[in-house]
Amino acid sequence: MTEKKLDGKKVATEIRAEVAERVARLLGRGVVPRLDVVLVGDDPASRIYVGSKARVSEKLGMVSKTHRLPAETTPDKILALIDGLNEDPEVDGILVQLPLPAALDTHAVLDRIDPAKDVDGFHPVNVGLLQQGRPRLVACTPAGILELLRREAIPIEGRRAVVVGRSDIVGKPLAMLLLHAHATVTLCHSRTRDLAAVTREADILVAAAGRLALIGAEHVRPGAVVIDVGIHRVTDRATVERLFPGDAARLARFEGKGSVLAGDVDYARVEPVAARITPVPGGVGPLTIAMLMANTVRAAELRRGMAE
Ligand code: NAD
Repeated sequence: MTEKKLDGKKVATEIRAEVAERVARLLGRGVVPRLDVVLVGDDPASRIYVGSKARVSEKLGMVSKTHRLPAETTPDKILALIDGLNEDPEVDGILVQLPLPAALDTHAVLDRIDPAKDVDGFHPVNVGLLQQGRPRLVACTPAGILELLRREAIPIEGRRAVVVGRSDIVGKPLAMLLLHAHATVTLCHSRTRDLAAVTREADILVAAAGRLALIGAEHVRPGAVVIDVGIHRVTDRATVERLFPGDAARLARFEGKGSVLAGDVDYARVEPVAARITPVPGGVGPLTIAMLMANTVRAAELRRGMAE
């Protein structure tokens, strides 16, 4: 019998191993793939993400450079840094860690990145290519979800897929990928009426709303595949006990660290109803970083005419 839990960590490990092989091939040709990350300000979560992006890329044999700028950096300075990275032939991937400080215009910054080096897939050129069904560098979280579905042999063609959340970084690109994989796709958002009635139609339900435990059993058709993108740090014991009743391991983690992670899906109540389900942590999160690595090596290959 297939396990119900969809192990994102396992799939991410597979992807990373494949990336390492491609990196080795590039190294054999004298090419050292390089990822440059720009971090503006000192958001603690962003610092952690940036640190792990650098660590993983180095583990896979790539070079990673992090550019740390103070929160009050002027737009001109950031754009000049990006111009320099665009022109530097050694740089394959450029990633600007979001969110940027509120005073900065995120679109103006992301638009400046050379689309060929846009490993986050947020540049309008890459968004447009995805929309037209000829993806080049695709946003990492949605790309990771598609990899998970494919590698776990979850059928997409002809199925009803419902995505909750319409952000530019998750919901919209994911809807596009599912559409191109021939699902019938519905996008829900904060103004959707009777969310549960819509989500109950789903064979594949993706929760990317950024709302803790938004998706309960009543939102899920029995036998659906449920993908949880949300990441929330739960810091109060009563919420941990409510969300994970009888889960001694989770409570012990909470006691040790003062917090645990949880998703947009009320896992304890949805798991019995779903056919397959991603946990938080260990579901979509590890796939995102694996796909960033895959995008970086792809950018390095594409720039040298080596991509399949
Ligand atoms: P966002 O805030 O940009 O977008 C949220 C979307 O959800 C919006 O389109 C909004 O309309 C919709 N929404 C909000 N409340 C809703 C409700 N009650 N009902 C229906 N729709 C609702 O968020 P985002 O950047 O797309 O991220 C979503 C979640 O995914 C966050 O928890 C974020 O931390 C997480 N995330 C995880 C990864 C990962 O690697 N696992 C990557 C990116 C984001």
